Amino acid sequence: MRSSCVSITATLGFTMGLISAAAWAQAPADPPDIIFLHGKIHTQNAQHEVVEALGVRGNRIVAIGTDQSVATLAGPKTRIVDLKGEVMLPGFIDAHTHPADSAQMLGKCSLDDKAAPFEKIKARIDACLAKNPGDPKRWYEVVMVNPTGNPLTARQLDQILSSRPMVLEGADGHTDWLNSAALAAAHLDNTTPDPRGGRLERDDAGNLSGVLRDDAMLLASAAMPLPTPEEETALLRKAFAQMHAVGITSVQDADDDDHRMSLYKRLYDEKRLDMRVRGSFRILDLHSRSADVATNATEFRRKWSIDPDFLRADAVKIYADGVIEYPSQTATLLAPYLDAAGRPTTNRGPSYFSPKELNQIVAAVDAAGFTVHIHAIGDGAVRASLDAVEAARRQNGNLDNRDQIAHLELVDPQDFPRFKSLAVIANFQLLWALHETYIDKGTIPYLGPERSRYLYPARSLQDAGATIAGGSDWGVSSFDPFIAIEHGITRAERRGAPRLLPEQALSLQDMVDAYTRNAAYALKQEKTTGSLEVGKFADLIALDRDLFALDAYDVHKTRVLFTYVNGREVFRAVVGGKAVYRSDTAL
Ligand SMILES: [Zn+2]
Repeated sequence: MRSSCVSITATLGFTMGLISAAAWAQAPADPPDIIFLHGKIHTQNAQHEVVEALGVRGNRIVAIGTDQSVATLAGPKTRIVDLKGEVMLPGFIDAHTHPADSAQMLGKCSLDDKAAPFEKIKARIDACLAKNPGDPKRWYEVVMVNPTGNPLTARQLDQILSSRPMVLEGADGHTDWLNSAALAAAHLDNTTPDPRGGRLERDDAGNLSGVLRDDAMLLASAAMPLPTPEEETALLRKAFAQMHAVGITSVQDADDDDHRMSLYKRLYDEKRLDMRVRGSFRILDLHSRSADVATNATEFRRKWSIDPDFLRADAVKIYADGVIEYPSQTATLLAPYLDAAGRPTTNRGPSYFSPKELNQIVAAVDAAGFTVHIHAIGDGAVRASLDAVEAARRQNGNLDNRDQIAHLELVDPQDFPRFKSLAVIANFQLLWALHETYIDKGTIPYLGPERSRYLYPARSLQDAGATIAGGSDWGVSSFDPFIAIEHGITRAERRGAPRLLPEQALSLQDMVDAYTRNAAYALKQEKTTGSLEVGKFADLIALDRDLFALDAYDVHKTRVLFTYVNGREVFRAVVGGKAVYRSDTAL
């Protein structure tokens, strides 16, 4: 059902007719608990069929077909919901996100990832501190700080707050800025060496500037007092409630440790986990012996795979590089970064590991049955990741582990066909595929025009046969799938804004696939979720407008009317104290 031309209108996606009732409606032994009628139900099955009606019993879809065929299954207690022509879809699956970690940002002072001069940053944090200073004995945290602006120093931060440790956390997830009290609390001084996989920025005289990159950030987080598990799970529940409101019913957490998994388990044990969660064991040290890594990951999977349908940890996360934007430039490139004047430098970004180390670790965890999920931003890291998967395939064959590379900001065209041939899923965060400061000021000048033709090359990868899965990378950016879907098809921030490589746009149907059936495949849960089919879990959403008939630049305005997870309503839109959606009891 993929349209073969590039289009920025959302209207092209769908022309399938209704399918015959007889073929679909299966008579269940007992009547459905709920029947949805008069809908435009996009099943997202292999044929992308659209039906009118759907029946749910318990946590499963038990009937699907025409109004007539499904309505006849109703029993005396069946609840009938009139969809009034609205669109229904399978719940969205976010294939790369960080809920347990990012939920902790809710309620913290946020700079909303806006590049701003120091005076503006200071004014914003001053206002936050005045409103809610938090516990004065704790570190003060500021989140979603845009890392592309002028580098902030500890001395500047001391002008905002000096009486207690303060950390500013980069929206890229790869940069922290500490004030002097925080540097002292973390026992960092000019004699502290750079840790493996990270960097402490220093001025020309060798003094710490207060900027911590990549794994150096762990030195700060290790020194920060922890909130209680109760506080953390409360925020995680709040995050899941917000995700339900935009239609998300499953997530792949792309970076876990025991602590993060323990928060999910806490909700599960309290019977409050209403999101399907697949966790990933994060490999911290790529210099470790591959046998040890596989053993640790296997123990992690055994410990945290509590329920195959709601909580498991059978993926492994590897960071092949950092981020591409100036001034970090920790993404690994095939050819060196340019300088600000467009002249080649000698810097290709860091190598946090050797190809041999990466190959051995990928092969070992692949052999142990894990989905390998690699963070790769630069074309050099993408190639090294594909090389590692290729080495694993040579050693293990294709074990159908649904290995994936996430982010894919810059991919060399030579590598496009390898995604299909190696069965590597392209896990894209297409909310980022547009012209804004990160790209225009922080990236394109340092790559030059030739390489900049291959930024977020979603269309090229799809045309080369790759499976595209969608993810948000929340808290790096919003988890609202409708924004990512819009950007994936428009490649622009809004109507009238310049488009980033419009030839790389996907169709609306492609993007819906990326967040439903393809993401289910990436999470190895396509047998139970990702489409609306008889026998699958009733994870479903209804929309307030026909997504498939909208102007592409209006996709982000779509609102979810209600969300079901496992046959249970977990969200219902409310406006002015009244539910905008009401279930009917009469046919
Ligand atoms: Zn991530």
